[in-house]
Amino acid sequence: MKKNEKVTPIRKQYLSIKKQYPDAILFFRLGDFYETFDHDAEIVSKELEIVLTSRNVGKGTRVPMAGIPHHAAENYLSRLINKGYHVAICEQISDKPINGLMPRDVVRVITPGTVIEPGLLPGDANNYLVVVFVEGDRAGIAYTDITTGEFAATELKNSDIWGLVDAELIRLNPAEILMPEDMPVKTGIDAHFTRLPVWRFEYARCESALQEFFGVSSLDGYGLKNKTFAVRSSGVLVEYLKETQPDAIKLLDGLRSYELSVFMTLDAATRRNLELTETIRDGNVHGSLLGILDLTNSPMGKRLLRQWVSKPLLNVKHIEERQDGIDYFYNHGLERAELHQHLKHLNDLERLVKRVESGSAQPRDLVAMRNTLQVLPKINTLIENMPKLMGIHEKFSLCSDVLALLEKAITDDPPAVLGNVGIIRPEFSVELEQVIESSRHAREWIGNLESIERERTGIKTLKVGYNKVFGYFIEVTKANASLVPNNYIRKQTLVNAERYITPEMKEYETLVLNAEERIKEIERRVFKDVCKTISESSQELLNTSRALAILDVLSSLAELAAINGYVRPQVVDENILEIKRGRHPVVEQMLEGERFVPNDTIFEDGEIVRIITGPNMSGKSTFLRQVALLVLMAQIGSFIPAEAAKIGIVDRIFTRIGAQDEIHAGQSTFMVEMLETANILHHATSRSLLILDEIGRGTSTYDGVSIAWAVIEYIHNHPRLRAKTLFATHYHELTQLEEILPGVRNYNVAVSESDGNVVFLRKIVPGSADKSYGIHVAQLAGLPRPVVQRADEILEQLEASSGKAVHIEPHVSQQLKLFPETNPLLNEIKKLDVNSLTPIEALNRLYEWKKKYLEEE
Ligand code: ADP
Repeated sequence: MKKNEKVTPIRKQYLSIKKQYPDAILFFRLGDFYETFDHDAEIVSKELEIVLTSRNVGKGTRVPMAGIPHHAAENYLSRLINKGYHVAICEQISDKPINGLMPRDVVRVITPGTVIEPGLLPGDANNYLVVVFVEGDRAGIAYTDITTGEFAATELKNSDIWGLVDAELIRLNPAEILMPEDMPVKTGIDAHFTRLPVWRFEYARCESALQEFFGVSSLDGYGLKNKTFAVRSSGVLVEYLKETQPDAIKLLDGLRSYELSVFMTLDAATRRNLELTETIRDGNVHGSLLGILDLTNSPMGKRLLRQWVSKPLLNVKHIEERQDGIDYFYNHGLERAELHQHLKHLNDLERLVKRVESGSAQPRDLVAMRNTLQVLPKINTLIENMPKLMGIHEKFSLCSDVLALLEKAITDDPPAVLGNVGIIRPEFSVELEQVIESSRHAREWIGNLESIERERTGIKTLKVGYNKVFGYFIEVTKANASLVPNNYIRKQTLVNAERYITPEMKEYETLVLNAEERIKEIERRVFKDVCKTISESSQELLNTSRALAILDVLSSLAELAAINGYVRPQVVDENILEIKRGRHPVVEQMLEGERFVPNDTIFEDGEIVRIITGPNMSGKSTFLRQVALLVLMAQIGSFIPAEAAKIGIVDRIFTRIGAQDEIHAGQSTFMVEMLETANILHHATSRSLLILDEIGRGTSTYDGVSIAWAVIEYIHNHPRLRAKTLFATHYHELTQLEEILPGVRNYNVAVSESDGNVVFLRKIVPGSADKSYGIHVAQLAGLPRPVVQRADEILEQLEASSGKAVHIEPHVSQQLKLFPETNPLLNEIKKLDVNSLTPIEALNRLYEWKKKYLEEE
């Protein structure tokens, strides 16, 4: 078509709008329809399977057109968005025609990351629009979910920058990722990528876009100071939203600048498989990693160590800080021993503080707190020379005010619970002291009453007594009743005696009884006041408790290292795994009599998958778990059972371990195995560590080998994966992969065999195992000798057939035969004419045979 002159005004309007959105399909509102034209119409017709028509746009010129009804747009939209298209919605923006033409404009552009229609959104997850900007070893990531207003950005720096970016993208699971058009994509993430011109990522442009968005002149307040990559990615995001979703931009919460996840991700299966805090067998901490690591001396330390074990770190600096702490106590054995003595006497300060704060503390709790605080000065001296790390010294306080209060207020050995007398020291409260003083006088008065009255009345047998009904009384025998003075008031008549009271005595009695109630009441009140005062220092106490917990964990890990010969691993950011003479921390302690055989794990440059073959029971699983546990321990900050190690931070450890397969809610073992494998393949990154034990075992051999093979290939080849993998298998077929894939190495567990005696050496050595020795294990387990021999025979035949369908020679077993041919009885039976036998003859014959048979035996 020539110039626009010949076309209709509405066509002109269309073309001028379309020009602004060349990369989107333009939904052009005409009446009750969204119409698409030209190439857009062809796409829509093809993708949505709707009829392609045409429209006259002037002077006999027709262009392709495809329309969808306005009311059904959502369904069509979602299909286009899911296929990765962007759709610009162009609406009529006023009812009044201008120059005979309705004004129209694009109100928003829908992209996978800017969807707001409920029908188009995933219900249970966020729909993230993410900007990724990588240059050199740095990256900026900004993301938003416009349906929730969340808006956050981070900046990363790492030699394996794509490994980190990948891990973060996996966490976010974006619907759409914006990137500069010239940036190579080095992530395997499955998302819609939108490429933007490079100039949109320029710093100055992005900075002013953000400043305008926030209405500020500096971005420092948003945690973006010096974070140019974070600024660039969030600036691009804001501009992109302004263009696509002008309304949504108002919904964004402020920008949150965040640090990449600081803890290693460990899924439930991996926590279970590695037996981090409890064993699979009985759920007991004894026998788990924590069970071995825990030499702590205080409840706070115990809890903190459990947290550390569950949340290994990702930050080298933080790990090194813990290592430095352990190092100090490792090299200062005396301090360590003394510290442990003190820590043993500590009560659970953290919980005590919480009880005091919540008002549920009992007198003994305050005694426990006092005892704990009394130990602090000794601990303080011990840590004076320790390097300042993990904020221990800042957190640690002697809490002298609280201690002084406790020492002044609470008696040495108060009753266990509130409501009893003797909790508060009398001198601590003037009121309490007065009440006790006055009650003492009354008590003395009553105590002296008997002797005074005996003297006064001359009644030698006069007694002062007490019972619950009448309180104090004076008892006089009936014979002496006449000597009773006037002020005595008779209260009770017994067989031989009368009981009296006097008003004065009653007054003292009230004093004594009331005093006890009052003392209890005052003590309760003072106790609460003391608790309130302590609560005001709760932060100081909690900080101190925290410092004590850290000290406990660091020094007990040092103790562990010293006792068991652990070393400090070198923890680095690079993708490295080198462990020399590593040992399994738990198994090495459980072995009785046998020595644990250390093994190296040194991944060469370019090595990705290590296939380990070896007989059952030779130590494959132990080795696999050992590697995972050592990496994990290193990231906890602990020293590790090895001679030396250099360990690159791992973002996740995945395990797929076959031994403890359980039937989960109706799923077959194999299904569970495959689900776990799928999870690993979807989520692992090049910085993950994969422990795969016997993948594919739950199905037939051919299926199993094929799946295992494909899994290894996928891990090896997928750009997002290429994760360090230890793969134990008894499928020898898999060892061929070493020749096919450059990153695959074969290892096996060494076995020594002489004169039919097989010994597992527990050494992991290069190369593939040539035999499985399963039959050897069967023999060790006590299978009957004939079964073992027969299995050997079958194995030979199978091996001879080299995997082809094989016909096993049937084994004709002696035991199965009721009547061996050689037995003379048989000949007799053969000769016998059964039809001519009378029943009695038959019976006799049987009798004879039995006799003969028994004689033979
Ligand atoms: P696999 O996975 O090959 O069947 P396991 O790893 O379960 O074998 O090991 C079987 C047993 O061998 C373990 O329970 C342990 O007692 C012992 N074992 C494994 N590795 C070692 C080792 N490095 N040193 C000493 N004993 C070991």
